[in-house]
Amino acid sequence: SVTVAANFLRTIIQEDLATGKHSQVITRFPPEPNGYLHIGHAKSICLNFGMAKEFGGQCHLRFDDTNPEKEEQEYIDAIKDDIHWLGFDWDGPVRFASDYFEQLYEWAIHLIETGKAFVCDLTPEQGREYRGSLTEPGKNSPFRERSVEENLDLFKRMRAGEFAEGERSLRAKIDMASPNMNMRDPVLYRIRHAEHHQTGDKWCIYPSYDFTHGQSDAIELITHSMCTLEFEDHRPLYEWFLEHLPVPAKPRQYEFARLNLNYTITSKRKLKQLVDEGHVFSWDDPRMSTISGFRRRGYTPASIRNFCDMIGVNRAGGVVDMSMLEFCIREDLDANASRAMCVLKPLKVVITNYPEDQTEQLELAKHPKTEMGTRILPFSREIYIDASDYEENPPKGYRRLMPGTEVRLRGSYVIRADEAIKDAEGNVVELRCSYDPDTLGKNPEGRKVKGVIHWVPAAESVECEVRLYDRLFKAANPDKNEQGENVSFLENVNPESLVVLKGCRAEPSLAQAQVGEGFQFEREGYFCVDSVDSTPENLVFNRTVTLRDSWGQ
Ligand code: ATP
Ligand code: MG
Ligand code: MG
Repeated sequence: SVTVAANFLRTIIQEDLATGKHSQVITRFPPEPNGYLHIGHAKSICLNFGMAKEFGGQCHLRFDDTNPEKEEQEYIDAIKDDIHWLGFDWDGPVRFASDYFEQLYEWAIHLIETGKAFVCDLTPEQGREYRGSLTEPGKNSPFRERSVEENLDLFKRMRAGEFAEGERSLRAKIDMASPNMNMRDPVLYRIRHAEHHQTGDKWCIYPSYDFTHGQSDAIELITHSMCTLEFEDHRPLYEWFLEHLPVPAKPRQYEFARLNLNYTITSKRKLKQLVDEGHVFSWDDPRMSTISGFRRRGYTPASIRNFCDMIGVNRAGGVVDMSMLEFCIREDLDANASRAMCVLKPLKVVITNYPEDQTEQLELAKHPKTEMGTRILPFSREIYIDASDYEENPPKGYRRLMPGTEVRLRGSYVIRADEAIKDAEGNVVELRCSYDPDTLGKNPEGRKVKGVIHWVPAAESVECEVRLYDRLFKAANPDKNEQGENVSFLENVNPESLVVLKGCRAEPSLAQAQVGEGFQFEREGYFCVDSVDSTPENLVFNRTVTLRDSWGQ
């Protein structure tokens, strides 16, 4: 029932295959390993892997690893896990842009030899000054007319480690007056005396993103290089390199709109700040908009893939409503998650007319689709219900327990509240009820019982911890305040985004709940076992999503 929205890149690929421009589509997903993947990356993954799959082509995983200081093996591992978990696999080996450093270096030499690159001695700061602005053309670097010989000599010495960081760079010789800032003699190589996670200390010069990306695409014979719109202005440069270098193929870059979700952040840098500064516990904290956060929260891969189908791929930006993502997980869990009962705020109920030494094993369906089977729930004299299901002064229309009234216990009998036991402060600490033995699986004689509440057996239920999550940001746009002014997203962190309930009681079958399995706790929402903190002795459940949309205000 998920509607698949338009995808203009699908149309382009279909045409390229139909006209014979390409016989096979080859795409790539090119993350920089400087953080965990977020929900925005899911869009790019579904697009790149999805198009390759749909048209019988290939999709490469290529780490775009040209910034050694910000990158780590931990991120590489997490990114691979997330792609697999989403249900995709890359063709061929895991690739790294750093695999091509030697080739890229040779191509840099080629540009120097053909007079299209020069070694520049301007400091990074001077370089920015010379670059001009959107309204002013830049100025040529005083080092622009160096001879080929001098450039070759200096560039080789840059590689050999003779210079300090920032002392020199290699730049393309294009046009300092171009209206496109990216064409104003862009930097191709910077000096970085840094250890690289793949190449160790082999290199002390590192190619820029622009000098790396298109040529890596060409080396891998990528046919459709799909990236987000902020790279649109880089396309002329992407094509300039392909035109001036002896590359084995001429891939094409296409741009699509980034995914932005309201109440959410999709920037690795900002997500890292949330972790580093302790606003959340980890990258996979269930409040995080990382793929690993959604996984730990109980989202399924199918729900995220369906979401990406629903939002489609186009060039118009915009902010997608969080309720769309929640719709997708609700729909999946409603269809597939077992029903179970868990009492979040237990109130003991003694059923005074139920025989003390008796227990019945009630069989309840796991799901309205009966082929999912049944579960057993013991019923005896003492049970727990939720404290909020009993009210002495109920609001109008209250359909749960009140003094002297009846409700049905889900899958069990009708009970009536006879007496409330209170502590010294007047809080209800226990209820005395009576049950109607003639109401198991049938309506009582001569009266209507409207309310149905959930319950668990007192003795056999298992104690557990339940974590309720709310939005991590109070503002739909975390980068703005209520007046619409720019603020730090940290100012909008919701201090009540996590509520931990201890001493909850789950029905006995939940003791066997497995990581990755979703449940509907009846009347409470959808939940899953926490993959990190839950143990058989100390069960921890995460609320994946509430039963109904709560984002609509
Ligand atoms: P971030 O700002 O979070 O670091 P990025 O674009 O720098 O994002 P990369 O690791 O370079 O992150 O991204 C890998 C691929 O995922 C790129 O092709 C990028 O365009 C795409 N991508 C990143 N964020 C989004 C998003 N919000 N929506 C769609 N695609 C995205
Ligand atoms: Mg990037
Ligand atoms: Mg980035």
